[in-house]
Amino acid sequence: MEVKSTEFIISNSDVSKSPKPTLPEIAFIGRSNVGKSSLINMLANKQNLAKTSSTPGKTQLINHFLINKNMYWVDLPGYGFAKVSQTKRGDWTKMIWNYVEKRSNLCNLFVLIDARHTPQAKDIDFINKLGQKGVPFSIIFTKADKEAQKVVSANIALFKTALMKTWEEMPIAFVSSAVKRLGRKEILEFIESLRSSAPMNTSDENDSKK
Ligand code: GDP
Repeated sequence: MEVKSTEFIISNSDVSKSPKPTLPEIAFIGRSNVGKSSLINMLANKQNLAKTSSTPGKTQLINHFLINKNMYWVDLPGYGFAKVSQTKRGDWTKMIWNYVEKRSNLCNLFVLIDARHTPQAKDIDFINKLGQKGVPFSIIFTKADKEAQKVVSANIALFKTALMKTWEEMPIAFVSSAVKRLGRKEILEFIESLRSSAPMNTSDENDSKK
């Protein structure tokens, strides 16, 4: 697939204020600074669709974008900010689980993992909870250009080992670099396959209006 049009629709902290769930939707989440905005912009071929390097923890909002007038992409606020208060963390948890569990048109949540690091408990715990709740997800390893390929492969292997403690099968996973535009084709093809097989699939743009 190619991204032919992008349109920012709405930012909110309340899943009930999201656009009507009449189009297939995919979402992106990950620890702060994982490279989520850069990845979304790289996939969309837009420099500033998602805001890069915003103040950590500042924008705790669910951002909806209409892509090609036939699906939504959702930029979800990151987790794992060191300096965020307990209250803010609680708000994040409520908002995210409310969103991922209630959003009926959500086809897939991309969980972004920084390929430079060995497995982090926060990521593994989050993924395991998605599994318990039956949320459809897949993994994108980010910033693959920042380390030698050997290091990236080793980190991915360790991550798989950590997941295999609870999972029978490794979830679908991609390796990406926003700088080198690595993984773009594979991820977009995957998104298109999800969109075209989604039960509410429609290309009628009127359906996407609130
Ligand atoms: P977010 O907080 O998850 O949205 O992360 P950003 O997209 O703002 O990226 C955080 C930092 O990592 C920024 O300085 C980006 O320029 C850098 N970054 C993001 N993706 C990549 C990548 O694929 N390669 C490299 N080398 N740097 C990246």
